[in-house]
Amino acid sequence: MSATPANIPTCLFCGDTKTTFTCFEDAVFNNKTFQYLKCCNCDLIYVYPSPTDEDLMKMYPVEYQGAFTEKGTGRYTTLFKQIRDLGTFKTVLDYGCGGGRFVVEAIDEKYEVVGAEYNPALVANLKSAFPSASFQTINDLFASQQKFDIIFLSNVVEHLTQPKETMLQLMQHLNDNGIFVLEGPVENNFNLTLLTRKTLFFIRKYLFHKKAYHTPTHLLYSNRKNQEQLFKDVGLTTLFYTVDESNWPFPSALSECKSTMQKLMYYIATFSVKMSKHFSFWGNNFTYIGKKTTR
Ligand SMILES: [Zn+2]
Repeated sequence: MSATPANIPTCLFCGDTKTTFTCFEDAVFNNKTFQYLKCCNCDLIYVYPSPTDEDLMKMYPVEYQGAFTEKGTGRYTTLFKQIRDLGTFKTVLDYGCGGGRFVVEAIDEKYEVVGAEYNPALVANLKSAFPSASFQTINDLFASQQKFDIIFLSNVVEHLTQPKETMLQLMQHLNDNGIFVLEGPVENNFNLTLLTRKTLFFIRKYLFHKKAYHTPTHLLYSNRKNQEQLFKDVGLTTLFYTVDESNWPFPSALSECKSTMQKLMYYIATFSVKMSKHFSFWGNNFTYIGKKTTR
């Protein structure tokens, strides 16, 4: 799609090649150092270099998925109501369906559900765990001509090495009057927890010259603005977009705090969550519904 050489950082959302450094420490994983660069054009923070297939295999062993969801918790009740208000839809693709948290509830709502995952071993396990839905690998999905009324992605975009290209491919599988529904983190969107983390990371990176040793599974940190622009760029028109906040990655209960520092983090996060209810731009999670832009 782009003629930019592979050794020049290229923004995963807008394709711009001008970058600046960030307060996020370099992450050492699989004997490589991954930097967090910020795009000068759209402010997306992304991991560079992009992980190779070998890195990805190590990042996502089959155990990464954890246990399958056995029954619905009502987490998506409000979302399903919103979807019903938008029209009559029959078929749902859950792209990156993971342990079936959404699949279970979509089956209960009487949708015809197809789940897609990368790993063939996981797909085989999903088939036997949820006989009322069907599952396929992402390769099989993209090789097919199937179309869906709803395409759903939960906590997926931040794991994609080529988010724009993947979204464009998925658009080919959306019915003309269908909808795209996404949710997940917006990790570089304004909130007090993020400001606190950035200050801590800045001190560790530039004063103590620390590196991080986490697995860089989240390949991008977006905000509301650059994310909505991406959705627009792939041909979607926003029907609904909200940002809210959870304590993550700070503790969500005082009982989880083992030190004074953790207690302080808990109070900061709890205050930030309260503030997010007053300001629509404030938060670290998003929910988006969009339809195909008519040209
Ligand atoms: Zn950009």
